Amino acid sequence: MRVYATCDIGESLDLLRKRGYEVEVFDHPEPPPKDLMIDKVRSGIDGLITTLRDRIDSEVFEAGKGTLKVVAQYAVGFDNINREDANRYRVPFTNTADVLTEATAEFAFFMMGALARKMWSAEHLTRENKWGFWHPYLPFLGDEVTGKTIAIIGTGRIGLAMVKKCAGFDMDILCYDPAYQNHEYVRAIQDTNDLRYARGISHRKSWIKYVGLEDALGADDYVSVHVPLLREGETPTPTFHLFNEQTLRKMKPTAYLVNTSRGPVIDETALAKALREKWIAGAALDVYEKEPLPPDSPLRDPSIEDRCRLYPHFASAAKITRLSSDPDKGMAGRCVQGLIDVLEGSYGGDVTQMPYVVNKEAFRQ
Ligand code: NAD
Repeated sequence: MRVYATCDIGESLDLLRKRGYEVEVFDHPEPPPKDLMIDKVRSGIDGLITTLRDRIDSEVFEAGKGTLKVVAQYAVGFDNINREDANRYRVPFTNTADVLTEATAEFAFFMMGALARKMWSAEHLTRENKWGFWHPYLPFLGDEVTGKTIAIIGTGRIGLAMVKKCAGFDMDILCYDPAYQNHEYVRAIQDTNDLRYARGISHRKSWIKYVGLEDALGADDYVSVHVPLLREGETPTPTFHLFNEQTLRKMKPTAYLVNTSRGPVIDETALAKALREKWIAGAALDVYEKEPLPPDSPLRDPSIEDRCRLYPHFASAAKITRLSSDPDKGMAGRCVQGLIDVLEGSYGGDVTQMPYVVNKEAFRQ
């Protein structure tokens, strides 16, 4: 078996080599040019390991016609892979769902805290020797997280993990998801809230409920986004520019926006305007319309620096989450296992039974 990896994903690749696979890696920090990737596919590889930086479309599948058997994506999001094209060429692709859920949710939570409690401005004050006095409210104050209200947009794996973390901080929670509602999970969180109150661990009764988009956008304090990037035509409820001038204006001037999903879910020009004109209190972003964030991005405007936290697509970037070769712990392990399942015909060769294959619909009778 021959495999080409567009990026080094660590020692998990040795698992493949030990099984007799021939593995070639594009061993540079940046992604390979598309032409090079296509040449590799055309050379007859059986499996392609990709990251969100690689555009996988009909050009790639055409180059691999008759030879390419699987694309193993090292990420849970797969908006870089054209699902229709994969289905047309009947190439299964896998992702690394679940193993990055908690890491991503905790990072979203920490981003929210860093933003609201002004940790970046506070550290700058100290480092730049501008901390001249202790004062009840000067030079600035932050906003608490504990006991506040948050809206969770998208209640899939990461959204619900974020719910769990917010519940631990006695937050009231508004959930919005037009496609999947986990009422049992929400009930369990409410039961836990009630028990914490009854046993004196929490001093007020927190609540959680599903609401419509309008109500979610109207959350007093925080809105955290956990949706896949879905464009017009791909779904009845697209998420491309879900946050635009119109929806941002529906948020409260006291509310902070947190995005760890995908950049194009937010119209960045509209967001920069919202921050400049203070329609909302602030934003913390891990993902951008164009990555890496361009030098001339409106989000770099120094006038909004104190209320706009910017991170380099870093939410899953923790050691075990990224590199563990255990498929139950790490993206690398899960990516490699997904590839092995397809190439070695696990589950009796039935692609629809393989847990990490995404586009099972193409293989159902
Ligand atoms: P998931 O599929 O389990 O959950 C996504 C949820 O969003 C689903 O419940 C879906 O019904 C919902 N949804 C779809 N359209 C919606 C809409 N218009 N409005 C509201 N909700 C909508 O996926 P997940 O594992 O929770 O991951 C979510 C996304 O997070 C991924 O697709 C990926 O793009 C992103 N992600 C980013 C990082 C990072 O490093 N920043 C890490 C992991 C995942």
